[in-house]
Amino acid sequence: MLYYSTQGKTSPASLKEAVMRGLPADNGLFMPQRIGKLPLSFWQNLEKKSFSDICFEVANCLIGEDLPAGILQNLVEKAIDFDAPLQSLNADTHILELFHGNTFAFKDFGARFMAQLMSYFVKDEKRPLHILVATSGDTGSAVAHGFLGIPNIFVTVLYPKGKVSEIQEKQFTTLGENITALEIEGTFDDCQALVKQAFLDKELTSKLFLTSANSINISRLVPQAFYYVRAYQQLIDKSKKTVFVVPSGNFGNLTAGILAQKIGLPVDRFVAATNANAVVPEYLETGNYKPRTSVPTISNAMDVGNPSNFARMNDLMPNLADMKENIVGYAFTDSETRQAMIEVKQKFGYVIDPHGAVGYLAWKHYQKTLTEPANGIILETAHPSKFVETVEETLGEKITIPAKLQDLLKRTKKSIGLGKDFEGFKKFLLEKV
Ligand SMILES: *Cc1c(COP(=O)(O)O)cnc(C)c1O
Repeated sequence: MLYYSTQGKTSPASLKEAVMRGLPADNGLFMPQRIGKLPLSFWQNLEKKSFSDICFEVANCLIGEDLPAGILQNLVEKAIDFDAPLQSLNADTHILELFHGNTFAFKDFGARFMAQLMSYFVKDEKRPLHILVATSGDTGSAVAHGFLGIPNIFVTVLYPKGKVSEIQEKQFTTLGENITALEIEGTFDDCQALVKQAFLDKELTSKLFLTSANSINISRLVPQAFYYVRAYQQLIDKSKKTVFVVPSGNFGNLTAGILAQKIGLPVDRFVAATNANAVVPEYLETGNYKPRTSVPTISNAMDVGNPSNFARMNDLMPNLADMKENIVGYAFTDSETRQAMIEVKQKFGYVIDPHGAVGYLAWKHYQKTLTEPANGIILETAHPSKFVETVEETLGEKITIPAKLQDLLKRTKKSIGLGKDFEGFKKFLLEKV
């Protein structure tokens, strides 16, 4: 199967090209030319399936044509070695915990799957692959962990000095092996500019096999469809309608939910939950799409003013009426989010992180519009201890930090300090030839 660009100005690419390049040359996003359906037998036997069976069958439905089945099976098993359990707060409100991977956030699903696919594709290449990733925190850690120890691939993480949390920094500066962290004297935008310039530099691109591990890579969407099916499987009462509530920033997670729906998952509606960066909820309400500079909030992984996956959502639902039929949007302030964190703790004894709390609020608002009960599945995108300061300050109590995170904080940071000038970065990269 081929993968076209949402801009439609380049010819379609193979899966290998789409994964290794990340972005089409016309700056669109890659999309599969056809989206198949899971067979009826899949749904009839769903209860008996393991998560690993589900992952393989969903992956096989989306990209199976492009890889031998044995390879895909192996790749999925290596990538998805942790579960996505559903915790029910009450009969209608369920939390899908997506934080059981190495870096305690849902980005582990996408990053690990992308790493396994790239590892497979790089086998026919003569040169090692160099991945450059600029991060404001979470993407860098998920990518670094995803690629750790993969032969013939080297990862360079660029991050702004003093602008990421201690936990985030430790997640990509203590790994060693094929992972190098560059601490840049500058902002996240400076880091991103360095990466962009590297891809435009003829000398670098001729001497090194460079790619990015961007969140818009098609290989990161595919594994995010797995856990929508896993969530549905775990619902006890499937006679009610199913609603997925997705705390959103770049809208990759929600787009993956739409893919799951296209292959046959019975979803009645998606609820797009955002913080003050409300570009998509506003679009759904007014029909005007107005991207803008992001504003900082306590759910900072969703501080996105120009959601990169909006192009894919538009491609899947070209007219506003279709999109409104399938997606409802709500936006909330930080103080509402803090109130929700307190409410979830008091009512249900559950500690929810600020991103999940935005989802909880959106579900409560949407629920009021319903005439009959439905199952609301709120995607809990990160473990609360990743945002320990905000959570403890809001709840007024200490929370339990998982042992794996505590160990991490004891490890020694190793990073290379660099200025934000391109020449220094280029010199660093050329030393890798
Ligand atoms: C990345 C991230 C999000 C936003 O996901 P998108 O796919 O960009 O919409 C939400 N919550 C957390 C914790 C994240 O790391």
